[in-house]
Amino acid sequence: MTISQNEFSLIEQFFSNIGSSSYSVELAQGDDAAVVDVPRGKQLVMSVDTLINGVHFPEQACAADIAHKSLAVNLSDLAAMGATPAWFLLSITLPKFDEVWLSEFSASLKETSNQYQIKLIGGDTCRGPLSISVQVAGLVDKNCYVSRRGAQLGDLIIVSGQLGNAALGLAHLQQKVSLPVDLIQPCVEALNRPLPRLELSDFLTNYASAAIDLSDGLVGDLRHILDQSQKGAVIRRNALPVNDWIRSHQAYDFALTGGDDFELCFTVPAKYISAIDDWNQRNPKCQLTDVGEITGSGYLLVNNQQTDDLTHWQGYQHFE
Ligand code: ADP
Ligand code: MG
Repeated sequence: MTISQNEFSLIEQFFSNIGSSSYSVELAQGDDAAVVDVPRGKQLVMSVDTLINGVHFPEQACAADIAHKSLAVNLSDLAAMGATPAWFLLSITLPKFDEVWLSEFSASLKETSNQYQIKLIGGDTCRGPLSISVQVAGLVDKNCYVSRRGAQLGDLIIVSGQLGNAALGLAHLQQKVSLPVDLIQPCVEALNRPLPRLELSDFLTNYASAAIDLSDGLVGDLRHILDQSQKGAVIRRNALPVNDWIRSHQAYDFALTGGDDFELCFTVPAKYISAIDDWNQRNPKCQLTDVGEITGSGYLLVNNQQTDDLTHWQGYQHFE
């Protein structure tokens, strides 16, 4: 590709020495491809997500938020699999060479990748409308990954954190709701700075029968677990972990169908309920809430209402 005469110095300046990993790298940037060793007894877990200007982040989003979110949404997929981050690739399309923007992007990418112990080992750089694609690679102990397909009858449905804040932040930016002042900043931050729940990776591999990360709203995402596990579920609306505004306005749709939370939803056999209580005592910043249970019905019910034919309850759809 070419974005400027100095494509290679651009990569050198902004996309080298980003992040760290305890897993070794044989070859990183500068060759035709990266080469890594997968440790014996581990499996490689890979995922890629693209963020497009105006679709996945607001047009006015700053470079630091875009960098963080591009990596965070991918780390969230690793967390949902029970994997530990190791390496990532970055494919970036930029409208122009903007040194200030790139510096901000690079600094933020560095911060997030160091925080979550993942190392940038290669990528691609092109000119065009702004879009960012990150591919992550993580590791799990062989056969200890968590998929969407293991939910069993009677399992508890657990979610992490609070749901609906990101969607509420977006609704605020679009001037669709009027929020109390003290909720604005946390909701906008939930939207722009999602926190991948990697601290739950080990908990998931130990206790979860199935898991997914919440990018499109609980109802739409839980359906993927139900489809793949061939089960149904009931959700108790009042049990949903939501902020006071959502509760007092009974605006549960922000939690049920709002996107971008990047919390985890997973199923756990009921016998492990004490492991959840223990976790909650030890992790005040990542509380787990039991919101419902897996049934054999094939339906997803919220309270007693069926969700099947409610199209606005199907999560964000790109091609509709
Ligand atoms: P090629 O011509 O083989 O596609 P490129 O010119 O795209 O190579 O990239 C040269 C080297 O720089 C490669 O090792 C590639 O992985 C790395 N690279 C390119 N863009 C990025 C980026 N945005 N982030 C990290 N590494 C990058
Ligand atoms: Mg290339």
